[in-house]
Amino acid sequence: MSREQLVVQQARKAFQTGRSKPLDFRIQQLKNLQRFITEKQNDITDALNKDLCKSKNGTLLYEILGLEGEINLALSKLAEWAAPRPVAKTLVTITNEVYIWPEPLGVVLIIGAWNYPIAVTLQPLVGAIAAGNAVVVKPSEVSCHTAKVMELLHMYLDPEMYQVVTGGVSETQELLKQHFDHIFYTGSSTVGKLVMEAAARHLTPVTLELGGKSPCYIDKGCDLKIACRRITWGKYVNCGQTCIAPDYILCEPSIQDKVVEEIRKCIQEFYTNDPKTFIDYGRIVNQRHFKRIITLMEGSTVAIGGGHDESQCYIAPTVLKDVTPESKVMQEEIFGPVLPIVPINGLSDAIQFINEREKPLAIYVFSSSKKVIKKIMLETSSGALIANDCLVHFSISDLPFGGVGNSGTGCYHGKYTFDQLSHLRSCLIKNLNMERFNLIRYPPHTAEKLYW
Ligand code: NAD
Repeated sequence: MSREQLVVQQARKAFQTGRSKPLDFRIQQLKNLQRFITEKQNDITDALNKDLCKSKNGTLLYEILGLEGEINLALSKLAEWAAPRPVAKTLVTITNEVYIWPEPLGVVLIIGAWNYPIAVTLQPLVGAIAAGNAVVVKPSEVSCHTAKVMELLHMYLDPEMYQVVTGGVSETQELLKQHFDHIFYTGSSTVGKLVMEAAARHLTPVTLELGGKSPCYIDKGCDLKIACRRITWGKYVNCGQTCIAPDYILCEPSIQDKVVEEIRKCIQEFYTNDPKTFIDYGRIVNQRHFKRIITLMEGSTVAIGGGHDESQCYIAPTVLKDVTPESKVMQEEIFGPVLPIVPINGLSDAIQFINEREKPLAIYVFSSSKKVIKKIMLETSSGALIANDCLVHFSISDLPFGGVGNSGTGCYHGKYTFDQLSHLRSCLIKNLNMERFNLIRYPPHTAEKLYW
């Protein structure tokens, strides 16, 4: 029996004891997870510094704060989320109890990505614990130091109910052969397809948090100074390795140079004249991704940056201008600090450009016109639509976070994670009285019965 098989078997056995069903148990485990984050904070920040060159404060801001918020929300709302949800009664059910009972699904597999490895792996775990499931967590091997820290979870959580499996592709593939009750995957669309295929063999439902190219439309009438400030932050945070980073800009040729200049000022302000030595500017996670991003720039005109250093996996904050739809950089998700500007002739062209491609995880529109924002909202589709800002929707627990089509299926955060990892069971509790009202449904179906 493989290690992965054994782990899943242990988790299932633990689930079958029923000890994850009482809310007290789930609350205790969530508090233990909170304690893990507090007590291991230095290990987490050190690991993320080694994996992605993240600064300590950057890690606290972008990985820990949101996770703690999700735990606190689950702790304060669990009783409400897990309670039976009464539904409207009809004449037929007036004397019955009719409600939806959220029940745990069973054993959930969470496969995390490497770019925000704590946030994207442990935030789904919060909802999985809250919903009463057993969980197998598979952190990404690419952020190997952070994966190692997550192995310490067994010191805090019920070690049979919640298990961490580290390793690479072959370990993940072995896990995917096992029977789970739900698979929650974060990563690329290519691997997302493999996950869905493996899940289909067991008819296991999936949540796929994928990526893609999120466009950013800048309307020529808007305040370019503020717009570019927010875009610069959204693009270069974590060195562009953010699933919802604005992948490329669409704007009219008349404002392209102004956009470049405003972004140049913001890069200097945020990362100094020498981002390479600046504490808050990260690195590409490994050489494979470094080479991939450098290759993507080939054939395009560099307006800002472009410098790189393979020995450090460093790529300067870069803007490309006059980029054509056919260029290399427009063929795949960039996932790095390279921002192409594709000139287009106004709003309708921008909408057409977006609609000719896969549905993105996010669409960003910068405009002071509500009409422009509404038009993009009505005429396109994406996981999220954000006007006049970038990324911040990730931090709003009341908004479902997820993609559509090629950018994903299902959603999470706050109560959405709880519901995603619960079975919403229909319950109709009747008694054996009033049999007279049932006569109509029993054969023979005579006219007298129908019209009495
Ligand atoms: P990755 O390479 O770390 O892969 C993610 C997980 O898939 C890992 O645990 C890995 O072991 C597993 N895996 C990789 N190849 C596999 C295979 N052939 N078979 C089975 N399992 C396999 O991460 P990645 O895919 O490079 O992550 C980057 C992508 O993730 C980007 O597209 C990004 O947009 C997306 N992402 C999405 C979100 C979101 O919330 N929607 C968040 C973060 C990242």
